[in-house]
Amino acid sequence: MRNGKRMFGTNGVRGVIGEEMTPALVLKIGAALGSMRKGTIAVGRDTRTSGEALAHALKAGLLMTGCDVVDMGILPTPALQYIIKTNQFDGGAMITASHNPPEYNGVKIIEADGTEMSDDEIIRLEDRFFASEFVAVSWEDVGAETAAPDRIEEYIRAVVGHFPAGIGKGMTVVVDPGSGPAALTTPIILERMGCRVHTINARLDGTFPGRMPEPTPEGLQPLSEMVVATGADFGVAHDGDADRAVFVDNKGCYIEENYEFGLVEDYVCGRNSGGLVVTPVATSRLIQDIAEKHRCTVDYTPVGSIYVARRMIELIRQGKKVSFGGEGNGGLIYPDHQFCRDGGMTAAMMVAVLASHNGRELSDILDELPAYHLVKEKHHARDPAALVRAVEEAFSGETIEKIDGIKIVRDDAWALVRASGTEPMIRIMIESKDPGIADTMYREIMQAVRQA
Ligand code: MG
Repeated sequence: MRNGKRMFGTNGVRGVIGEEMTPALVLKIGAALGSMRKGTIAVGRDTRTSGEALAHALKAGLLMTGCDVVDMGILPTPALQYIIKTNQFDGGAMITASHNPPEYNGVKIIEADGTEMSDDEIIRLEDRFFASEFVAVSWEDVGAETAAPDRIEEYIRAVVGHFPAGIGKGMTVVVDPGSGPAALTTPIILERMGCRVHTINARLDGTFPGRMPEPTPEGLQPLSEMVVATGADFGVAHDGDADRAVFVDNKGCYIEENYEFGLVEDYVCGRNSGGLVVTPVATSRLIQDIAEKHRCTVDYTPVGSIYVARRMIELIRQGKKVSFGGEGNGGLIYPDHQFCRDGGMTAAMMVAVLASHNGRELSDILDELPAYHLVKEKHHARDPAALVRAVEEAFSGETIEKIDGIKIVRDDAWALVRASGTEPMIRIMIESKDPGIADTMYREIMQAVRQA
């Protein structure tokens, strides 16, 4: 696993239920977390069939180590994060496997400030887990549980409160929560903003009968059709825990997530110019183009939303102005709202984006953005790190950034070569406005790979 972690990945620990992911494992995670974070811990879950079983196990671990638990029931991850941050809970945990198929589940650990737990703290938690070093409290100190399923309303109100009343009047939107927890939030948020809302896959259902939790263009075909059939202004869909949002335009065309990022960035930075935009090295150069338009500067991080969120917080602590942040996968972070990806906020933001364009269609607005061509390949490697070093050596005469893997930066293209954190692979990404230039750069890199 990445960065010294043994069990947790970039966004929590995940596995197949009944195989690597069991209540026994989650009980120990709860006990480890409860031993590290005293006080009151908020617990939430997505709609997976195994969610209730794992939530009970997690809560048992927390209670027996002396923590009190507030069970928020089913809600989006960013809703739980918002409630934790604004109510001064001592921490939280979300039972979710995000975009993974229904047989998966997992745990994301949330800090008191609403951010996902850092690598250093996760390693401390894993050390406790593997050493079974749990605080055992006596009978009079065992924690108590309360249920608070209605607090999701606090999140809905907070999102709606960021926008002028009635900003969505006259707009029609189709929402596809993918049978996940956003069914409880996004349709209500958009309705309260004044939109006319249709829904698809909006019944909470852990078998995901309509589509898989990962919102792919194929899975969103019914959403696209419904957008066209209802004459909607756009369609929005979420992943399994609704920290991400993806869109189809008024013609039912899937909006590639870097373009979604660019559209929202243009709006957010247009109202808050001259700041920093924080994003991982793998994000399209489109983000840089739009940042420059608003006298903003892009600050690059390693791949992973927690690195973006933590970097935004760090820059603000240093007194810098941070306008916006996010990843090129539909996970966008609004510093005025909270320091985590927020799909409900992004759905709401698209209403504001469209409202700012005075009645123009989303497909027209998208046509004005510069077109980039992206090559994405994986290559098997027995020693991925050695292969990355070999590519670095071969391109040593050029501008190379080493934030995550190596990024070769040219005026008309860039390439990112990284070792996979989980498989014996290297991942290669190349982007240029000119497909020919991207393909040539890919061949140059593959030549260096073959020579190694
Ligand atoms: Mg997610």
